[in-house]
Formats: sequence, structure tokens, C-alpha cells
Amino acid sequence: MPVLTMRISFMALFIILATSGCGIYEKYGYGRVAQSKLDQASVTPIQLPVVAPSISQRYRPSFASSQAEHRGFDILVPSRTPVLAAADGEVSKVALSFLFGNQLILNHGRTDAGYRIQTRYFHLDEQLVKAGENVRRGQLIGYSGVTGLAGLYPHLHFEVHQLNDDDIPVAIRDLDPQLFWVDGKGRITCYKSTRDFAPVPVSLSYPVPCRDLTWQQ
Ligand SMILES: [Zn+2]
Repeated sequence: MPVLTMRISFMALFIILATSGCGIYEKYGYGRVAQSKLDQASVTPIQLPVVAPSISQRYRPSFASSQAEHRGFDILVPSRTPVLAAADGEVSKVALSFLFGNQLILNHGRTDAGYRIQTRYFHLDEQLVKAGENVRRGQLIGYSGVTGLAGLYPHLHFEVHQLNDDDIPVAIRDLDPQLFWVDGKGRITCYKSTRDFAPVPVSLSYPVPCRDLTWQQ
């Protein structure tokens, strides 16, 4: 293929990818959970409020190993969407990695079994907090982006982990975020600054703002 034609087709491909990236938010928007053939039937069904940004990929457990096939939720949000702490906690790590890009890890409280719970936020454009800092539920901790191997579409990859006191992951290391929502299993709970959330640190709220709900204090 002549060089000029190749350049033009690369440019065409680039334009298609760039514009389809914009269209995807209109396509998915709010309140939708993308279905995949890979999803396991046994996973807790998701009740996503119509005002909550859509999920393009859900958590997928692995029955062959302790590490899930998809270790969290992908929440489809444009770059520079505010990322909110899912619960009260302390910043454990602020890092940059090839795979996950700019990442933030928060420590929260313990499960009934005594394990520590962490939430993890990947592919961020920017982190706004430092390791050791205390954060409150709903606090702006960073902005979503496409850093690391985020694929074509900007999204927030959100994980929940359980660890023992030596920081070693236990049993199934990455858990379905579905098990921890404030409003109950499977019931994704939008953060709202005017709502009184019970001070239970391992109950989580959605880590991005929902439409029409106030999140700023
Ligand atoms: Zn993901």
C-alpha cells in the first residue's frame, strides 16, 4: 500500500475511533449495565439507579483461581469526571503503573470476618490526595482518565479487595463490589452530600457522581 494511502487510512481509523469515543457516552449514558457473554450467572444482579453512570464491564469471578477474571467494575465516564471516595478511610497508596495508570488505593474498615477492606481506583487522569491522608465518603479524590492500559474508552476501573493484617490478600482477594453497597447487596448507592450515611466504613457508595444528585459539600 502506498505510504500516502496508508497515512490516510490510519487517519480515517483514528477519526472513527476518536468520534466513536464521544458517541459511547450517549449510547450508554446512565443506568445501564453492559451484558457480556463472559458474565457468570451466579454474580449478584446489579440494580443501577437510572441517574448513575453506566457500567461497561462488570466484575467477573474466576472459578479456577482466587483472582477474578475482571477484578472490578468499569464505570463509563468521560475523562476528568470527579472520582469520589466510596467510604470513609485512609489513603494507602498513590501510584503510577504501566497497567493501571494513575491509581489510588484507600483502606477502610473490616469485614465481619476481621479482614481489612480496600477500594482501588485505576486509570485516573489525576490523584488529588496523598498517602496517609484521611478521606471522607464522597470526597473528591481524583479525576478519571485513560492512563495505563485503559483501552479505547475513558472509564473508572473500581475494585474492592480484602486483606489480612499483614497486607496479604485472603481467600478471594478481589471481591464483587456488589456485596458492599450502603443500600444492600446489588443495590448501587449514589453518594449524596445531604444524606446521612451510617458510619459503617465497609459500606460503599458509587465512586462517581450520579446525575441530579448533589455530591459537593
Ligand atoms: Zn476494568
